[in-house]
Amino acid sequence: MKFRNLAPLLLSISFASIQAFTVQAPSAITSIRSPTGTRSTSIHNILHAEPENENKFASNAKTISEAVSSLAGQTIVIKYGGNAMTSPELAKGFCEDIAALQKLGMRVVVVHGGGPQIKAMLEKVGVDSRFEGGMRVSSEEVVGVAEMVLCGTVNKQISSGICSAGGVAVGLSGRDADLLQCEKLLNKDGIDLGNVGDVKVVNTDLLNDLLDLGITPVVSPIGTGMGEEKDVAYNCNADVAAGRIAGELRASRVLFLTDIAGVLDKEMKLLKELSIQDVNDLIDDETITEGMIPKVTYATDAIKLGVKGAFITDGRVPHAVLNEILAGGAQGKGSGEGGTIITM
Ligand code: ADP
Ligand code: MG
Repeated sequence: MKFRNLAPLLLSISFASIQAFTVQAPSAITSIRSPTGTRSTSIHNILHAEPENENKFASNAKTISEAVSSLAGQTIVIKYGGNAMTSPELAKGFCEDIAALQKLGMRVVVVHGGGPQIKAMLEKVGVDSRFEGGMRVSSEEVVGVAEMVLCGTVNKQISSGICSAGGVAVGLSGRDADLLQCEKLLNKDGIDLGNVGDVKVVNTDLLNDLLDLGITPVVSPIGTGMGEEKDVAYNCNADVAAGRIAGELRASRVLFLTDIAGVLDKEMKLLKELSIQDVNDLIDDETITEGMIPKVTYATDAIKLGVKGAFITDGRVPHAVLNEILAGGAQGKGSGEGGTIITM
């Protein structure tokens, strides 16, 4: 089944389901539109389609309805990063997807990165920084810039984008209400990363209260220190924050949007399905390096805590979120057209 070209259909189905099943906020719902800016494919056209298309539609609709019924009321954590954040078109599509999932009854938490935006601001203000093992080495000065960019501009762009798409989102920093409580992350090679945080405690009560109210929390990954370090701001890798939040919430799924097809082997071929053991082996033999390390490490951390599936998904694909969440049906195996699924 070809789902990649069906983003408008996915949106139209979520739009139709919303019309059928939701009684709240109809004016907000009508703002969910296809990427072309026109109202999604009309149900009239689908009903009057050629028999072949009609069957395709029925089969797609069945798959999607199975996904929706298996995920309604479930929590999904989405790490939003990479290209999906820097292209205005992809960003708009992302916000539409989150609003659609929310309206379909899923409890969605967004955790965002902002590497390119932080890099641009560090250059502007003339602060040096470098990466070690996919983590940005973070002096106090670097954390200050990261906090300004992530918790300021980037966080607000995302929460307001989701609201404009008809959803309800509230932006939060990991320092608000002790949402992400951190200790200094110790690099396994003994390199001092500065104030890079490892998330030890997540204020899941706050997240669940917001989710109960039908609100999508949009979390920027700046954490707070613990105990005597209460006033220290920690720079967390967004993959670390997303994986830990998913694990502590015992989410149904965690999805990492990135700027590559998924986890690749040494021949650059996509690895579609990986076990925790496979992931460890691929790190040991250096197939997985740099920014992919925190993704797979904290994806497996989440799975060990009970998250059923972790997806590393190509955020360059328009509407990647709806594709991965809805196109896999009840089995939740993703779109089947890209991305890596990590399971037990
Ligand atoms: P983001 O966190 O914004 O998604 P990162 O640059 O931190 O992006 O992480 C993704 C990058 O990880 C890829 O673009 C790629 O350069 C790198 N990478 C390292 N090893 C692998 C691998 N085995 N498969 C895929 N990407 C990998
Ligand atoms: Mg990264």
